[in-house]
Amino acid sequence: MWKRRKRARRASTSPLELCDLCGAAFPAEAAVSEYVPDSSSAHATRDRYDGLRLLTACREEHLEELRETYRRRPFVQEELWAAKITRALTAGPPALPLTQLARRTGLHAPDIRRAIEWHNRHRREDGGTGPAGP
Ligand SMILES: [Zn+2]
Repeated sequence: MWKRRKRARRASTSPLELCDLCGAAFPAEAAVSEYVPDSSSAHATRDRYDGLRLLTACREEHLEELRETYRRRPFVQEELWAAKITRALTAGPPALPLTQLARRTGLHAPDIRRAIEWHNRHRREDGGTGPAGP
């Protein structure tokens, strides 16, 4: 009886993960995960993970389905630059001069202009609903 209560308490405090495919919640230690290329993904704090998305799944078959989805998704450089710009503008002041935006994103001015053009064109094609899913 004593041991059972202890185990139950430990289980209820173990962290949970959500499967990116089926949405199931499961213990974090059972997760299978992998980074895949994704130009829509800019990491919140670590620049070297920009262009990579961490997939998390409840089992290997679901991870493989997710991998396949991202394998078919085109990697668009301008989309990645736009994601970096969005991160810079959401983490700090919502409007920045081009020179400050370049400093905060590590991009050159022509890249920023191409990213903004891509973003605006994409929004028009999308009907303004935001970035397309994977
Ligand atoms: Zn799953």
